[in-house]
Amino acid sequence: MTPDLVALDRLHVWHPYTQHFDAAPPPLVTRAAGAYLYDARGRRIFDAISSWWVTLHGHAHPAIAAAIAAQAGTLEQVIFAGFTHEPAARLAQALIHVLPAGLTRVFYSDDGSTAVEVALKMALQYWECRGERRPLLAALEHAYHGDTFGAMAASARGVFTAPFEQHLLEVARLPDPSEDPAATLAALDQLLDRRGEELAAVIVEPLLLGAGGMRMWDAATLRAIRERTAQARVLLIADEVLTGFGRSGPMFACGGAGVTPDIMCLSKGLTGGFLPLGATVAREEIFEAFSSPDRRRTLFHGHSYTANPIACAAAQASLALLDETSARARQTIEVTHRSHLTSLAVHARVQRPRVLGTVAAFDVDGPPDYLSTAGASLARFALERGVLVRPLGNVVYLLPPYCATADDLGCAYDVIERFLDEEPE
Ligand SMILES: *Cc1c(COP(=O)(O)O)cnc(C)c1O
Repeated sequence: MTPDLVALDRLHVWHPYTQHFDAAPPPLVTRAAGAYLYDARGRRIFDAISSWWVTLHGHAHPAIAAAIAAQAGTLEQVIFAGFTHEPAARLAQALIHVLPAGLTRVFYSDDGSTAVEVALKMALQYWECRGERRPLLAALEHAYHGDTFGAMAASARGVFTAPFEQHLLEVARLPDPSEDPAATLAALDQLLDRRGEELAAVIVEPLLLGAGGMRMWDAATLRAIRERTAQARVLLIADEVLTGFGRSGPMFACGGAGVTPDIMCLSKGLTGGFLPLGATVAREEIFEAFSSPDRRRTLFHGHSYTANPIACAAAQASLALLDETSARARQTIEVTHRSHLTSLAVHARVQRPRVLGTVAAFDVDGPPDYLSTAGASLARFALERGVLVRPLGNVVYLLPPYCATADDLGCAYDVIERFLDEEPE
């Protein structure tokens, strides 16, 4: 039965971020529990990347599974224009309660990319509503905000966006604050000075440029960006699709830094990693700018599954699990990362070891390079030994579910160390 399913997949399925020309047959995953995946051959695989950064508490967590089952049997879906339901209303309240103070309005969508699209549209139309023309956006070098067109435009230009370059919105680029925060701020000052009146919003991934190479930057620079944008009346959009819900240590990277953005994007861990759901949260002032007898000021955006009740129920159950126990588990992961990275750092091939909350990363053999093959070799090597990692080029990172133990992580670091010792450069 196993080979048939993989053959069927080969025949009919097109996978994301996959070059099918030479892709190895994928493992057939049949179930998952806690920090582990199990494949059809009975193999146990430690999910060291939380299945593309979404799984928070662990796979198949019974509390979230139960909330989903109960909601599916009660109200599975209803149009969200002109209607509402308990999971959407309660989730919005619960989110506002944990988000940085001042964020008060939740707009639901489907995933991280759509949460970003909504944020960009909200920001651009906000200025239209206020009778100002501000067509320009600014974003960071090495940013990643998703794969839809607006999100791609905000993302760094590179292999992902090259085929679409000429179709992307104009976005001013600020230098990567993980390399030179003073240069980021100087460029922002210059942009505000020269084109501040045209600028609708600055979008950032707070403290962690994820897909752009797990580049970590500091809270003081984030606060400085907040101060400067506020001063210049430019909106600040924080894309916490990756950093939210404890991933960066505190509940939100912005909250930990004492920053309230004007708009925040959430997804990935929002449902604990069970179902796709996005949320774009705005300050009341932004919501109010759209409120008008003039119909044209409506935010004309929505998706068929906006605020899907089952996804909202999963998110509520996941939020309830982000308690003191979860905070301690995340703390343990961070401490474990730091101690292993300290030992790994003596390895000649390991550069720029870094940790932010539950995320640990380092570069192999030189500066970040997405097309480097070192990471792909490590991924194969690790999978054969029961560990799922997916380096970004030569940037190796671990981003485990919060239930991962020090032993689980120890095994993953052992495999990485063996690779660095055994495999030629
Ligand atoms: C993954 C990611 C996105 C895109 O989310 P999808 O759910 O994959 O569309 C956007 N922003 C950041 C920071 C991300 O890490």
